[in-house]
Amino acid sequence: MQVVKTIKEVREIVKQWKKQGLSIGFVPTMGYLHEGHESLITNAVSENDRVVVSIFVNPLQFGPTEDLSSYPRDFEHDSKICQNNGANLIFHPEPSEMYSEDFCSFVDMTGLTEGLCGKSRPIHFRGVCTVVSKLFNIVHPDKAYFGQKDAQQLAVIKQMVKDLNVDIEIIGCPIVREEDGLAKSSRNTYLNKEERKAALILNKSLKEVYELLLDGERNSEVIIKSIMENINTESLAKVDYVEIVDNISMKKVNIIEKPVLVAMAVYIGKTRLIDNFIFEL
Ligand code: AMP
Repeated sequence: MQVVKTIKEVREIVKQWKKQGLSIGFVPTMGYLHEGHESLITNAVSENDRVVVSIFVNPLQFGPTEDLSSYPRDFEHDSKICQNNGANLIFHPEPSEMYSEDFCSFVDMTGLTEGLCGKSRPIHFRGVCTVVSKLFNIVHPDKAYFGQKDAQQLAVIKQMVKDLNVDIEIIGCPIVREEDGLAKSSRNTYLNKEERKAALILNKSLKEVYELLLDGERNSEVIIKSIMENINTESLAKVDYVEIVDNISMKKVNIIEKPVLVAMAVYIGKTRLIDNFIFEL
């Protein structure tokens, strides 16, 4: 496995692979890798001849009061994970390699990015779309792998690729969870012991939504109200949003008549966690 820090080096390596007719899978990450990331790498390795993992904490997708400076980083550990899972190349650039001083071009989106996480993180998806576009232009993969954990991000990237005629297949991978149901996340490391326990309220609430849906409840408002009340019983939890939306357009669904995404963001102490599931009728 090779590790490079410059765009030029990635391009040279990928060019050689393409010359040999090898297919390329790509897994963009912000590092501090866990089993969720590993599942993306494993999928990529099984479906491609070569796999590139990028590890880059993208400043553009963090708001001014968010956790850019405290975001966990451990390149040595990440490197081992990539190696053990069969990745061929890590691209680990400095911010200055990705954003020169005169940088002023962005990829933005309307509609899809305005609800859910976009509401409380208004510049987030512009940062995501911009960095993913840049990474796609640097790596030129055949397939790119994203987690269903960030369901809105996955929908946004699929739409961006469609709108901008990007010739890359986007593969969504299922959410990987801890044994007790908490969705794996690099940000789980922020939680103290008490908060870690309280964080189970996300998965527990989603399970209760699932039960309500199985019982035949189809009114989103009724479901959301019941779940919010439930989450509010956890003193360390504060709801950012609980929504039931169409899984492609991310538009609110009032009466559930086709598959929907049930998504939530909840603050546990100062840590904002997200979780979701897709309900297939
Ligand atoms: P991040 O490093 O948080 O930007 O995540 C990089 C990629 O890993 C994104 O496509 C995420 O959706 C995906 N990912 C993060 N956590 C999980 C998880 N628990 N299960 C599956 N994919 C995940």
